[in-house]
Amino acid sequence: MGLSIVVPILGPPAAGKSTLALALGADPSRRVFRLREQVPVDVLVATTSAADRLGWVDDSVVDPAVRSYLEEAAENGDVDAVLMDNFPGTGDQTQLLIDAVVDIAPGCVLEPVELLLDDRTRRRRAKRRRVCHSCEKDPISDPRMPAEATTPHSWTCARCGSLLHPRRGDAPSLFAARSRRHQDSTDAIRTTFTNAGYPVSTLNANQPPSEMARLVGAMLNHRSHTA
Ligand SMILES: [Zn+2]
Repeated sequence: MGLSIVVPILGPPAAGKSTLALALGADPSRRVFRLREQVPVDVLVATTSAADRLGWVDDSVVDPAVRSYLEEAAENGDVDAVLMDNFPGTGDQTQLLIDAVVDIAPGCVLEPVELLLDDRTRRRRAKRRRVCHSCEKDPISDPRMPAEATTPHSWTCARCGSLLHPRRGDAPSLFAARSRRHQDSTDAIRTTFTNAGYPVSTLNANQPPSEMARLVGAMLNHRSHTA
């Protein structure tokens, strides 16, 4: 078997990228790459020191992180797919990802998927979403994973009973800045993938997460069985 497909999951803030990656990653043959889990803590700390840096990480850190992650996945015979949650985030990151896949897993397919969702629905979702500082021990106390509440309007974590919090980056000014950054980089990402022969598929994100996971899961299964 071996690594046969890498799926970058793209899209604006609050489109549902992490939820989709979590749902798909539940299958043991799939791994989820999250850049911030692969870089040293001091780099993460530096990304928060200025508001306008917005979690930006230098390519000299990103490149080896992506390469060592893919090398490990390619060596592990049980991993068939790597999903990338919100990566790449720039045109340069897109190129370094393409180069890394070609070098490390030449037979592997790259199938970027971009989630599409209107601004109003995104803002509404961002306002509603919660994270759990207890379930997700983030090194810089900035948890990102969507947490489930006991009931839709409660602030109690369904998993551990702790108090849930809004996500730091969902504060209106940061959310707007993150949305602008996505808007500014999305053309370069699409163009770089397309020019290298990897067209970006789009997925309507205004549907239940389970349905999105079903659609992308079907694509993954199809690919891994025909690779
Ligand atoms: Zn919790």
